[in-house]
This record gives sequence, C-alpha cells and structure tokens, in this order.
Amino acid sequence: MQKINIKNMSAAELLTAVEELGEKRHRAAQIFKWLYQKGCGDFSGMTNLPTSLRRTLGDRFTITWLRLAESVRSHVDASQKFLLASDDGALIEAVLMDAHGHRTICISSQVGCALGCALCRTGDGGFERNLRSDEILNQVLFFKAGHIPPRERFNIVFMGMGEPLLNLDNLARALEIINSPDAFALGEKRITVSTIGIPEAIRELGASRLKFSLAVSLNATTDEARKRLMPAARSIDDTLAAAIEFARARKTRVTLEYVLIDGVNDTQEDARRLAGLTAAKPFKLNLIPFNEWNGCAFRRPSDERIDSFIAPLLPQANAVTVRRSQGGDIHAACGQLRMRRES
Ligand code: SF4
Repeated sequence: MQKINIKNMSAAELLTAVEELGEKRHRAAQIFKWLYQKGCGDFSGMTNLPTSLRRTLGDRFTITWLRLAESVRSHVDASQKFLLASDDGALIEAVLMDAHGHRTICISSQVGCALGCALCRTGDGGFERNLRSDEILNQVLFFKAGHIPPRERFNIVFMGMGEPLLNLDNLARALEIINSPDAFALGEKRITVSTIGIPEAIRELGASRLKFSLAVSLNATTDEARKRLMPAARSIDDTLAAAIEFARARKTRVTLEYVLIDGVNDTQEDARRLAGLTAAKPFKLNLIPFNEWNGCAFRRPSDERIDSFIAPLLPQANAVTVRRSQGGDIHAACGQLRMRRES
C-alpha cells in the first residue's frame, strides 16, 4: 500500500482520516502540533498519542522533509540563502533575512518558473514543476528547526522561485496550515504572497478565508514596458482592478512592488504615471533598486536617481518605502543560487 504524504493533507482531511481510524477528533490537532509546531519527523516520537495509533500512522502515512544541499551566508548583511533538495532531487531556494532581530523567510512555490521575466534569473532556467504543499511547508519547517529560536515570531514572504498564483491549490493548502493555530498560527501581517498579478486568481484568493497580505509586482507604468519586463503580465488596468477588489474586500492595502532599473523604468515620466496610477487607491508602494547579477543587462539606478524618482510620488501616494535588497553578494534574487549551481 502506497503511504499517504501527511503534510499534503488539510486539517479537514486529517480529521476525516483520524475519524476513519476510529480515533477521537482531538487526535488530529495533536498530530498537527507534532508535525508543525514541534517539527516531529517520526510518528513514534509523538508521545501523547497511543502506541497503537502511532504504529498505524507509521504504516499508512509518511512524513517528508527537505535536505540541505547548499547554503551561502552574505558578507554584507545578515541574509543567508539555502538550496534545499526534495525527495525527487528537485532543488528549492529559500532565503533567511534578519533585519535587527526581525526574521523573514523567503520561500518558493515552484521549481523554476514558466513566466520568463527579464528582471529575474529563475525564468532563465525554465519551469520544472509546481511544489507540493508539503514542500512549501517544509521550507518553513527547515528554518524553524535550525534558524529561528523557539516561540519567536517571524515573517514569511512568497518571493522565491515561481509564481505562487499559478500553483493555487498547493499555495492555498499551505496557507491554511500556516494560518492554523495548531500549526504556525501566522496571520495576514506575517505572510506576504507576491505575484506578477493574475486577476482571476487574486479575486479567488480575495474571496477565500485565507489570511495573508498581497503584493503585486508592477515594475512599469505602461502595458508595453511591463510586457517587455514581464512577458506574461496582464494589463495594468485589469491587474490593479483585481488588487483594488482584494483590498476593499479585506479592508486592507495591497503592496505594489516596483523594481527600479536604471534607464528602463525610472524616468520622471514613469514616476508621474506611477503617482497617477496609485493616487487615492488602497495601495502601498515598495520601490526596490534592481539587484544586479553577473551577465545581466540591467543596472541599479544611482541613489540620486532613486531620490528624484521618489519625489513626485510623495505628495500623492499613501505610503512609499524603498527596500534595500539584502544578499546582493549571495545571489539572493530569486533563482540566482540555483542558476549558479547549474551553470
Ligand atoms: S519574477 Fe517571479 S514570475 Fe517572473 S520569472 Fe521570476 S519567479 Fe517567475
């Protein structure tokens, strides 16, 4: 009998399975706590379950884990990048960032990416496959096991390899468990899902009960320029309309990410158009100076150019932040560590 991957099961599915075994309902919550709060990798170690149940679980279910393949620590900041291997050898990138004791983990949703954005190395390597929900959750567990002190709160950003909204079922399944009080108990202020903007998926998630914050990569102020950077991008109007619906339905604001590339999307005209697109809308703007890698055609703008881009935005936008990218020396933009290993 093929064993079932228990970390691929939702809370409701695990509850059904526990009841089918003739066990009381609270056993499902106990198993969840062992898997996600204590990071237990062996049913025999779940010591508050009856021995017979532990044996039955071991016969029917399997507990997956990710193996560390490589890690690189930045010399210039506190970020650390990891390459994690799944059971079939697929390599998954995840990054730990530490800003003054506030830890954020950046995790992947796919192996590679099919979308081929010009500003990202993941697209260069093509698409291998979607990550299963257990592989998404195991990235969080990897960090909890050795890099985040017990009981310390941390943030999760889905900004690693892949477009999360093209792996919607596994993303939703993982988010439900990340939200669960019996698992990681993290809510919308602690989780950010970053997407190039797929309107129908944004609407679907907006109508769900899943708790997370949404970030949309805008990166340009005209559809033509956006398509040049992100060939799969939908129109700015459709994307922002879905983002506004999401924000209104959840009484929150959506972050618009804008990677600033020297001479490409950082002109004064761009700044004025961006101000027009965002004025009086439920958006926050996050400007990210481009993170260069060897062989890429794009350059990071100078600090003076970044400052003059920001100036026209300030009177109009609700909130503007400039993110200083962490980990430039460790290939920390998505896909860069995996690509370096394969090249
Ligand atoms: S930026 Fe995101 S969506 Fe675009 S190629 Fe990279 S991983 Fe894929």
